[in-house]
Amino acid sequence: MLKSWQEEAQVKGFSDSIPSIFQGAIIESAKLSPEQKVIALTFDDGPWPESTAQVLDILKKNQIKGTFFVVGENVKNFPNLLKQEIAEGHVIGNHTWHHWYQFLNPQAAAYEIDHTEDVIFKTTGLKTNLFRPPGGVMHNGVVDYARNSKYAIILWSSDSVDYSRPAVSRLISNVFREAKPGGIVLMHDGGGNRSRTVQALPEIIANFRNQGYRFVTIPELLQIQDQNQKFIANKK
Ligand SMILES: [Zn+2]
Repeated sequence: MLKSWQEEAQVKGFSDSIPSIFQGAIIESAKLSPEQKVIALTFDDGPWPESTAQVLDILKKNQIKGTFFVVGENVKNFPNLLKQEIAEGHVIGNHTWHHWYQFLNPQAAAYEIDHTEDVIFKTTGLKTNLFRPPGGVMHNGVVDYARNSKYAIILWSSDSVDYSRPAVSRLISNVFREAKPGGIVLMHDGGGNRSRTVQALPEIIANFRNQGYRFVTIPELLQIQDQNQKFIANKK
């Protein structure tokens, strides 16, 4: 059943909305208590042939919803994979059109974000208010534009470093080195050969479950932090 905030988000045309206090905020992880063992798996740079579908299969088998930060030109090339992500209950975020790192003037930054927003909307009928800057680059213009457009800037607290294609065992240990309740794990389903990410993912999931974690999307993670804060405020 949908929660009220999800219904509200759908009325507004968002795949999943986020509490307004996070609009324009920069988030590396949620501030949760140590016993709130939730973690968000995020996948960047897709949609991508083979690896996106493989990641989706693994998530489905494990009944996990993830968050996919998609590149606009890949959405244009592989729209059905984006539709599949939405159909299977995952959350989408904006990851620019070209995945550029260099400095962009305001018009170019606007294009990177707005054009991606448009292709997501044309493909799925949905909007997103989650943004992740390519490479985590904060000062090339895109983050400023995204914050002004009320996106939440979603970074990460646990980097798999899968983009440098480490051995599977190293990739897994990278994830768990910084894993913590409220954490955000960075992985990639696109942008290159992601066979090692696909190989590592089932063990990453199993290890988190063995440690008592459950998996949430980024909007769910932010909702949990928001509810904690309301709970603390009510107690005063
Ligand atoms: Zn990226």
